[in-house]
Amino acid sequence: MRELGIYVQVPFCQTKCTYCNFHTGVVASSRFAPYVEAVCQEIRKHRDLLRAAGIGEDLAEKAHSQEWLCHEGVVDTVYVGGGTPSLLDPAHLERILDTIRVSFGRRPASEGGRYKSTRADLMEVTLEADSETVEAEKAAAWVRAGINRVSIGLQSFADKELIAAGRLHRRADIYRAVPMLRAAGIRNVSFDLIAGLPHQTKESWRQSLDELAGLAPEHVSVYLLEIDEGSRLGKELLQGGGRYSAGAVPSEDEMAEFYEMAQKALEAAGYHHYEISNWAKPGFESRHNLKYWRREPYLGFGAGAHSFSGTERWANAHDAAAYVAAVQSGRLPVEQQEKLTADGALEEELFLGLRQLDGIDLARIEREYGVTLGARFERIASAGLVEREGSVVRLAPEKLSVSNEVFVELMR
Ligand code: SF4
Repeated sequence: MRELGIYVQVPFCQTKCTYCNFHTGVVASSRFAPYVEAVCQEIRKHRDLLRAAGIGEDLAEKAHSQEWLCHEGVVDTVYVGGGTPSLLDPAHLERILDTIRVSFGRRPASEGGRYKSTRADLMEVTLEADSETVEAEKAAAWVRAGINRVSIGLQSFADKELIAAGRLHRRADIYRAVPMLRAAGIRNVSFDLIAGLPHQTKESWRQSLDELAGLAPEHVSVYLLEIDEGSRLGKELLQGGGRYSAGAVPSEDEMAEFYEMAQKALEAAGYHHYEISNWAKPGFESRHNLKYWRREPYLGFGAGAHSFSGTERWANAHDAAAYVAAVQSGRLPVEQQEKLTADGALEEELFLGLRQLDGIDLARIEREYGVTLGARFERIASAGLVEREGSVVRLAPEKLSVSNEVFVELMR
């Protein structure tokens, strides 16, 4: 039996970063408590659906409940992301995690249906945090609530880049936050870096990589800057202007070079590259995110959260107020739902498989999907885009930063 992952979306931030167009809002903190209550209510509703397949007349409810029953409601990873979930009062986070534990914790057969709810049930519990929100007392409360992994969106160690990107934290906040997390007992810390921020240079990127290695997080994610057209930076890029430093965004070639620098620096610092954007010290790969890349089931709670049953994907309403209103009125807040076709599932396997450094086992895919892919892969292998080793195909090392282009080529 595969164990479930649970994602909880907290769509609130203190400010809006210039490059971001996520469905997150800067709202009064008085809106946090009703939102947390709605998330807990949504979690309990799913628990009830699990316990009674076919409840409700709504097709979506039926589909979900029947899918999920076979998993017996056992969860082994939780990821609280956003937004900036570290903005919440620790008591709010504790309430959400306790609701998950009571609703989906392990239920050994010997207990005859009584839920055993210990904090050890959830083996990887991640909280996304911005460094300026970390405080010693908060960190200690997070650990008491069961959080054992903190993912910090630090993005850069250069204040000039952080300021241009509209981030609230500064380099000094990172050096203040990390010891607090360690002192509180967090043994698994992940850092996010962004390659391609305005004003970033080869020298400043090298400095960020060196400083990151000095702090020795267990896990690192490196993302190439993606500028949404609807973000302030995106609009400035399209329409001109000098307020958000659009003219100082590095070129695609520079970003590719930054990515290669990260690959070398992280490898030299003892990190294992396991997914295009992710590196880990041995044993610290993100168990929760691996579920996404391996197409394992997960449930998402909160505004805009996505879920996957193995055959269906669905997403909640993005607007936080609409989400809360739907839950309060007793409805599932589902906004989109898609049953995957065999072709759609195969595409996902290939796209997500190529992102993983272990590659794709063609023999398994061909067996499970009843297709023959050898000729397609031969074509892109002879173009130097992928490498083959027996039945396993993986991206050529120098093509890791252009995986989307390789995927497009594969699907032609
Ligand atoms: S903290 Fe993250 S979610 Fe919030 S505005 Fe910045 S990039 Fe967007």
